[in-house]
Amino acid sequence: LSRPEWLEVEEFLNRTLIKADPALDAAISTAQAAGMPAIEVAPTAGKFLMLLARISGARRVLEIGTLAGYSSIWLARGLPEDGTVISCEFLPEHAAVARKNIDNAGVGNKVEVRVGAALDTLVNLQGPFDLVFIDADKGNNVNYLKRALELSRPGTVIVVDNVVWEGAFLAPEAEGDALAIRQTLEFLGNSESLEATAVQTASSKGWDGFAVAVVK
Ligand code: SAM
Repeated sequence: LSRPEWLEVEEFLNRTLIKADPALDAAISTAQAAGMPAIEVAPTAGKFLMLLARISGARRVLEIGTLAGYSSIWLARGLPEDGTVISCEFLPEHAAVARKNIDNAGVGNKVEVRVGAALDTLVNLQGPFDLVFIDADKGNNVNYLKRALELSRPGTVIVVDNVVWEGAFLAPEAEGDALAIRQTLEFLGNSESLEATAVQTASSKGWDGFAVAVVK
């Protein structure tokens, strides 16, 4: 089987637009060394998050799903000096690796990692957040969106990752995460409080996509 050309395109984009970055490279290698799954966002997507934070003028960011802190670092880099990211992570061992990576990237003063089931963590948070990035257990996406809306203001930007997932939700008998993804898209489309779209992507992370919404 020949190598898809979009992988070559991605490599070109990475070296042309992203450039080498020791702190981000370390975030990936430490995660690998710790046996964590390589499910962080692609570099172009990470930079997209940074740009979105900057474009929207975000100061307070909420992230659900920290893993090794790769996307947290990108988000923090999009914020002004007094900006903050609160990132929710279920597994203490992931949070510990993330803490080191975030500190190593020089954005430790901006990022707080809260350990626990995100739905519990979210109960104790106060809004409004300017930008919310949802990238954890897909089965809770709709719950996260509902809570994110409570923690938002008009203009808050909400991004949900992995909303295409190789089209798994197309199957009529879709269940589990695939069904949850379809329900996530339907929630985004039906919500009176959100204006949303989704973008399909092909990258080293496979055929996937992300949704972007703004709170009305
Ligand atoms: N956003 C990260 C990045 O791009 O670098 C990747 C996050 S990874 C896809 C999903 C993370 O969510 C994992 O670290 C997992 O342990 C965490 N997670 C799963 N269920 C969770 C829950 N209920 N509450 C908080 N975090 C959860």
